[in-house]
Amino acid sequence: MNEVLIRGARLYGEGEPVDVLVADGVIAGIGAPGVATVPEGAEVIEAAGQVLLPGFVDLHTHLREPGREDTETIETGSSAAALGGYTAVFAMANTDPVADNAVVVEHVWRRGREIGLVDVHPVGAVTAGLAGERLAELGTMAKSAAGVRMFSDDGHCVADPLIMRRALEYSTALGTVVAQHAEEPRLTVGAQAHEGERASRLGYTGWPSSAEESIVARDCVLARHAGARLHVCHVSTTGTVDVLAWAKGLGVDVSAEVTPHHLLLTDERLATYDPINKVNPPLRTEADAERMRQALADGVVDCVATDHAPHAVQDKDCEWAAARPGMLGLQTALSIVAETMVRPGLLDWRGVARVMSERPAEIAGLPDQGRPLAEGEPANLVLIDPDAEWTVHGAELASLAGNTPYEGMRLPAVVSATLLRGRITAREGKIG
Ligand SMILES: [Zn+2]
Repeated sequence: MNEVLIRGARLYGEGEPVDVLVADGVIAGIGAPGVATVPEGAEVIEAAGQVLLPGFVDLHTHLREPGREDTETIETGSSAAALGGYTAVFAMANTDPVADNAVVVEHVWRRGREIGLVDVHPVGAVTAGLAGERLAELGTMAKSAAGVRMFSDDGHCVADPLIMRRALEYSTALGTVVAQHAEEPRLTVGAQAHEGERASRLGYTGWPSSAEESIVARDCVLARHAGARLHVCHVSTTGTVDVLAWAKGLGVDVSAEVTPHHLLLTDERLATYDPINKVNPPLRTEADAERMRQALADGVVDCVATDHAPHAVQDKDCEWAAARPGMLGLQTALSIVAETMVRPGLLDWRGVARVMSERPAEIAGLPDQGRPLAEGEPANLVLIDPDAEWTVHGAELASLAGNTPYEGMRLPAVVSATLLRGRITAREGKIG
């Protein structure tokens, strides 16, 4: 029998410390410290001063397998996820081959199960080959063993409104959700950085805010008419928040995510010329980042998603125009949220549970994640030391790639343990 006793943690960082007994994959008991007798053979985690939350759920991860196993595999990405406090991740479909059919999604799902560090849910492509021309076999993927719950062409926008409309209709009938990478491609040809003063000064072709906002507005209208559910990936502009607030006010069934890097970083970083800061959508202005933090606090933006995007050294350590967009995110997400949201008082730990666990689980329809910390509930948990700090070194992260924009930064909050169905998947920075 696999039993774990977590001693003296505070649930959601609130109230008095408690002991939490985990047995048979569920929370078996919660009580005053020292009252529970330690079951024989139980693993004890001393957690005085620590915060217990439901395990995190990432709606947006790139695990690169199949196809680019030199930059990440399902195994190394699962390790990074467990170490980052995640108990479920959604693996985007832009692999090679593309996850646009039952064979690929079942492979990803099965591999995730074999490794067993985090629940890996494959995202199915919306269109065949991510080409944007005809719908992929959404129903086959949803009904496959992988039970696909989310569809996205992420990396590409589903730009054709008729295809997007059909995808919304089908996915709603299937009980799944379409996650849109909102980027009107006609407005971002050759784009290298956020369109604005800083990009023009450096001579970079701009990626205008309107390319994101126009697609989000269009998709909200399509979702409204179809009575469909829509999820918006990595929102990054003030105008997108205005559109979301408007659509939610009309009762449109839309949800949205923001990445940790859009909460913290801005296009001020362009001045470094370092492609480590190149990402899609691009880093925006201080005003945009400030609005992202406010929108996450007040719920217009529902949740945090990493857009974890591992890249090989040669694809990042080159000139800006040739570099691939994307940053690592799984192991630093909690700390960036602590830095940008918890430290300034925009979110408390219960709020962190909402934006990193409960809302993403609801959006994806995961019945066993983001559950309350209560007896009988599945023991998908993360234990956090809120007062500890650590220094980020890309080379020490579990990902095969090392492209973190936070290199050398000292950040608050450390994951002390992650439990998946009662089994310890990460502890004190090590797997298992
Ligand atoms: Zn994207």
